[in-house]
Amino acid sequence: MKVFTGISALYTPFERLEQAAIAVRDGRISWMGPEGALPAEYRSWPREDLGGRGVLPGLVDAHTHLVYAGSRLEEYLRRAQGESYEAFLEAGGGIHRTVRATQAASEEELLNLARARLRKLLAGGVTTVEIKSGYGLTVEHEIRLLRVIRRLGEEGPCRVFPTFLAHVIPTGWEREAYIQAITEELIPEVARGRLAEAVDVFCDRGGFTLDETRQILEAALRHGLRIKAHAEQFERTGATRLLSELGGLSADHLEATIPEDWKALAQSGTVGVILPVAAVVLRKPLPDARRMWDAGVKVAVATDHNPGSSPVYSLLLALQLAVALGGLSVEEALVAGTANAALALGKPELGRLINGAMADFLVVNSREALELFYWWGDSMVHSVYVAGERVYPHQ
Ligand SMILES: [Zn+2]
Repeated sequence: MKVFTGISALYTPFERLEQAAIAVRDGRISWMGPEGALPAEYRSWPREDLGGRGVLPGLVDAHTHLVYAGSRLEEYLRRAQGESYEAFLEAGGGIHRTVRATQAASEEELLNLARARLRKLLAGGVTTVEIKSGYGLTVEHEIRLLRVIRRLGEEGPCRVFPTFLAHVIPTGWEREAYIQAITEELIPEVARGRLAEAVDVFCDRGGFTLDETRQILEAALRHGLRIKAHAEQFERTGATRLLSELGGLSADHLEATIPEDWKALAQSGTVGVILPVAAVVLRKPLPDARRMWDAGVKVAVATDHNPGSSPVYSLLLALQLAVALGGLSVEEALVAGTANAALALGKPELGRLINGAMADFLVVNSREALELFYWWGDSMVHSVYVAGERVYPHQ
């Protein structure tokens, strides 16, 4: 147990508190409020003075593809000369190239690569990360990736939310046979081994159709798993409305959504996750975050870290783009990268600093906590805490 003092300002993220203190017991916030109002019972607890700095909830990256091997630099260079992402995918490159490199790598290599990436996210203030499989494709290789994701979560310090992603049909497979392998072998095994909390489907051109997506998501629900989808990135498929109908945690991407889809999200409470870096890298327009927010959608923002369309280590950069290009205010972007992102994982105890929540927070190297969002390309993260323990920089 410990009391944190010396907090110039704190965002819950919905409210701003001045001169705050936080009491932490067993990794959770047992009291928070103005330092002057600290109840007598906490006055004898050990204290840590944060030096008059601003405090924000630890950032939550609700959409990453962190476990893979190989590089797509060549594709990146050629796309920068005007070739399209979909053309690489259709020609057996793109995702398929990463699949070949990932299948060829050992479990230890994959673990080491992903661990190094996770550390970079942590240094940027991220305390919870969703990690998808999806570059294994066969039953054996997907299970291997999910084991790597589980080990990352066991190692800590970042909290890891594991998701099985049905990504693309592997070369040489019949569509129907592959979907059967997913619904009758992979999903049951994932559920039995508790290897993932959710199932995600890439529902788009080059991925799965809406009908196939429904079959996979319904199999996931039958096995007690939560559901998500890559929805409406290149084409409007109906995946957003399907997710809303089935009670999905989130529909992600949303570049090609229309107001009708936002209405479905707002009514169901399914979170709309936007991925601004992927849109910018692919030279596509961002989804209209401003109008989605105003339509009542719970909007979250994530990195979509992956070697093809979003080679980025900074969730903050994604949030800054959601402000600059998506029309969110800085205060809204903070909610989109913390409390709303945690809801996209079904974890309301994360991403907010309130009584009973997990004490995951970042300390900003300024009296003004929102100054973090002001400077581009120069991190103002002073330190990061998970469950009330400092995890960055290492002590
Ligand atoms: Zn993705």
